Amino acid sequence: MKKDAFYLPQGMIYLDGNSLGPMPVNAASRVQHTVNDEWKNLLITGWNKAGWYHQPRVLGDRLAPLIGATEGTVVIGDTLSIKVYQALAASLQMRPKRHVILSDTGNFPTDLYMAEGLIKSFDRGDSPTLELKVVEPESIADHLDESVAVMMLTHVDYRTGRMHDMAELTRKAHDKGVVALWDLAHSAGALPVHLTECKAEFAVGCTYKYLNAGPGSPAFIYVRPDIADSAEPALSGWMGHSNPFAFDRHYQAAPAIERMRIGTPPVLQMAALDAALDVWDDVSIVDVRSKSIELTELFIDEVERRCPELTLHSPRDAAQRGSQVSFTFDEGYAVIQALIAEGVIGDFRAPDVLRFGFTPLYIDNDDVLKAATILEKIMANRSWDQPAYKQRSAVT
Ligand SMILES: *Cc1c(COP(=O)(O)O)cnc(C)c1O
Repeated sequence: MKKDAFYLPQGMIYLDGNSLGPMPVNAASRVQHTVNDEWKNLLITGWNKAGWYHQPRVLGDRLAPLIGATEGTVVIGDTLSIKVYQALAASLQMRPKRHVILSDTGNFPTDLYMAEGLIKSFDRGDSPTLELKVVEPESIADHLDESVAVMMLTHVDYRTGRMHDMAELTRKAHDKGVVALWDLAHSAGALPVHLTECKAEFAVGCTYKYLNAGPGSPAFIYVRPDIADSAEPALSGWMGHSNPFAFDRHYQAAPAIERMRIGTPPVLQMAALDAALDVWDDVSIVDVRSKSIELTELFIDEVERRCPELTLHSPRDAAQRGSQVSFTFDEGYAVIQALIAEGVIGDFRAPDVLRFGFTPLYIDNDDVLKAATILEKIMANRSWDQPAYKQRSAVT
């Protein structure tokens, strides 16, 4: 749909945009502009003259339509792990009489780790402590009761691509007075999300996966507007202060979404995000979703027909699947390395998951067929079965 808007190395079929999106062509020049014209020449005055200070809000507004949010409800900054912590702490403060954080086994580990760390830091050994309850994804609704303060879920499972019904679970959570916190890491830029409509209190996500803003690009946080003036930002940094440059001795949260800012934002990386968001000026997320379904259906059909050794690990029903397809195979790691050696980039998630992301912005049917053909060849002649392909690197 927008293949020429991205740099894709010659001969590479990139099926890992769910982990790190490719570089938008205009990102290099935008970052260069920020370096050479702004940082270099404006120095400290760039915060005002180049608008760096307001970028977290400006970019939040640009991103908002992709997740069904309105202007002034999204702000950029920090990393996703930090935004998870912040939204979680804010959720808990909204339900002081409840002690359970409900999540599922399909959640990304860092989300659960952040919850564990938060619980630990609140534990003084004398009051009833918080509890992280992690249940099977299918049984979330059964565990929503009056003990639960917040339901913290990732919309699309990073391993299987299984997608929760966000509207339905949020409604069920609200029926029990539970705050809904959604992680949109594998949704934002991949499929339509309807935050305003589903009425979730909080949502967070990253910008380096389907939003293509580059390694280490900042996260985003959404707060439902009617609670934005009362939500406790928890990580009460000076840039979320109502008047940061008054340098008050005491913290006073800024109005609305601005209070979710913490400290100095990453200016260079925000320039890359700004460039990456240009793509959406003339592409609709609805069209991206329908094409993505076509691509994932095609890949599943082709791989199942050509590679009987691989077992589908994603939901077969496209409506319950995000923009990725996973298969399992005992030697999955080696297969992925063999694929990478042939120019097909997927990734591996322990213990045995081969994962492929499909991003219609720069992947087409022809790429899918080529990737399936190469995978078939690797499986048929067992070319993955070499010591070099079994050597694990730090990042899989
Ligand atoms: C990718 C991802 C993260 C990563 O968090 P960072 O702080 O950006 O490293 C967290 N949660 C989920 C659900 C993810 O998919």
